[in-house]
Amino acid sequence: MAEKSKGELLQEQLMMDPKNMGELLDDETLQAVQNFCEGYKKFLDRAKTEREAVDVTLEMLEQYGYVPFVAGKQYRPGDKVYTVNRGKAMIMATMGRRPVAEGVRIGASHIDCPRLDLKPRPLFEEAQLAYFKTHYYGGIKKYQWTAIPLALHGVIVKKDGSSVKVTIGEDPSEPVFCVTDLLPHLAKDQMKLPMTEGIKGEQFNILIGCHPFRDDKASERVKLNIMNLLFEKYGVVESDFLSAELSAVPAYPARDLGLDRSMIGSYGHDDRVCAYANLMAELEAQNPEYTTVTVFADKEETGSSGATGLQSWFLRDFLEDLAQAEGCQVRHLLARSKCLSCDVNAAFDPAFSDVSERRNTAYLNYGPVLTKYTGSGGKSGTNDADAEMVGFIRRILDDAGVVWQTGELGKVDAGGGGTVAKYVAAHNVDTIDLGVPVLSMHAPYEVVSKCDVYMTYKAMEAFYR
Ligand code: MN
Ligand code: MN
Repeated sequence: MAEKSKGELLQEQLMMDPKNMGELLDDETLQAVQNFCEGYKKFLDRAKTEREAVDVTLEMLEQYGYVPFVAGKQYRPGDKVYTVNRGKAMIMATMGRRPVAEGVRIGASHIDCPRLDLKPRPLFEEAQLAYFKTHYYGGIKKYQWTAIPLALHGVIVKKDGSSVKVTIGEDPSEPVFCVTDLLPHLAKDQMKLPMTEGIKGEQFNILIGCHPFRDDKASERVKLNIMNLLFEKYGVVESDFLSAELSAVPAYPARDLGLDRSMIGSYGHDDRVCAYANLMAELEAQNPEYTTVTVFADKEETGSSGATGLQSWFLRDFLEDLAQAEGCQVRHLLARSKCLSCDVNAAFDPAFSDVSERRNTAYLNYGPVLTKYTGSGGKSGTNDADAEMVGFIRRILDDAGVVWQTGELGKVDAGGGGTVAKYVAAHNVDTIDLGVPVLSMHAPYEVVSKCDVYMTYKAMEAFYR
């Protein structure tokens, strides 16, 4: 082999040279990637709402010996605890060898996803068709949500305080629902509208039936027939919708995508993909140096407000309990803690290349994206991790052999967005975003690379170790 030139040697020494994991990883690791993603797909299919994500996670925690956290109790290194916030958000922790006064390692992801929520008075009939009225949740491109099969998930709290869980449309034997769209033949005017107006929010009416109740006296007999079916199945009456949380979500399962099975197509990668990677690292943490704190937050897609979103103090309150049990102040714990805000970022899409800046965008298969800052315009609303924090994470990832990349959410002034990072950082915690690059983010069918999913898990494992 010819000797390397001085330029080639200098290049190796001085320049960055990112590699596609499809080339980089050995066969054994690629097999581990496939195995890991089988578990992830099962998680996706069972966790289509934040409540279901909590339920599935609780089952997994049991297998790993987690017990409910008790404030004031003394824990030993290696002890595993959890606490659930209103069935929609949760915190898991593995006690570290060092006192919490020296800081903890926080991994925060969100388990809510964009979807169509039923309105408080959803049921109506028109032209002998029965519908549920909805109010969309999170940032969606409305035209993507018509003419696809939808399933209903959620909970109905009855007047007597009892509640029923609802899941209809996931099992192939069950019916599904949909929002109808206009046929192209008659869509001459619709097709001229801007895409934001082609389908309007008040057109998100989910078709749920067309058979009238067999009685010639009552009015709105299709609606009545639906209500009768719901009463027979769940024992609910129309006013029970007032105290319900029912959501329509895409009714299909997660599938391998691509002839090479290198990707996964599914609803809800944002952010269950990071939640799952984070969860697996948390479950497998054994006697970590620093206490690991894994947070599953709700309401991220609507701005992290509410008691179960990360603008609430449920994380801080948990950390305060940890601090008090060891006789330290929570503010000292927070000041020495580090947080990875585990959320997805946009992957470069050749079909829409003009929204990205090629040198500072994330690519599929190049590993989790470390995002120093988010926000929009002149970094408005960003956490912007400091250079020291980036340096700290860089060292951890490189030392563990994690393949990772950096990326901004689009080019300057193309738009923008944020994560829970700034809400954790507001408690005086060093925080930075790290997560899986996604294609078609917030669409009913999002795409991720399996290698990226696995490497995000390896990144969290290294951070927690
Ligand atoms: Mn997200
Ligand atoms: Mn999102």
